[in-house]
Amino acid sequence: PPDVEDLGRATWTFLHTTAAYYPDKPTVTQRASMLSLLRSLPTLYPCGHCASHLGENMKEHPPRVGSRSELSKWLCERHNDVNVRLGKEKFDCAKVDERWKDGPPD
Ligand code: FAD
Repeated sequence: PPDVEDLGRATWTFLHTTAAYYPDKPTVTQRASMLSLLRSLPTLYPCGHCASHLGENMKEHPPRVGSRSELSKWLCERHNDVNVRLGKEKFDCAKVDERWKDGPPD
């Protein structure tokens, strides 16, 4: 089976980076594609208990795909929900662009 930690880091990198470059004003098609990407995870993510936690969490917090900033914040909050559940530190969601898009200020 996949290493749950490596898989998690790779998946968060993919998801946060994709959110960071999602459009400010996504088209109907882009919104629908993002929704199906996110909604497929509880079915397909190859860590069963992770997938089922995510599915329950997404019922309480439906994906927000209306804009880049909205999606980035929503995803940061979902990742923080996992962080808390695993006893890890919460990430400051004000810094999500610095981490996943712009890099540190110089
Ligand atoms: P990660 O949590 O993988 O984070 C990678 C990097 O992202 C961090 O170094 C930091 O720079 C940045 N980051 C951290 N928090 C945030 C945030 N809130 N927003 C933006 N950036 C952030 N593991 C389990 O053991 N049990 C589970 O149930 C479980 N469920 C998961 C569900 C999903 C959908 C995913 C994608 C992963 C899940 N994982 C789970 C894996 C877990 O979240 C971590 O990926 C893994 O434990 C490795 O953690 P890490 O400390 O290296 O950093």
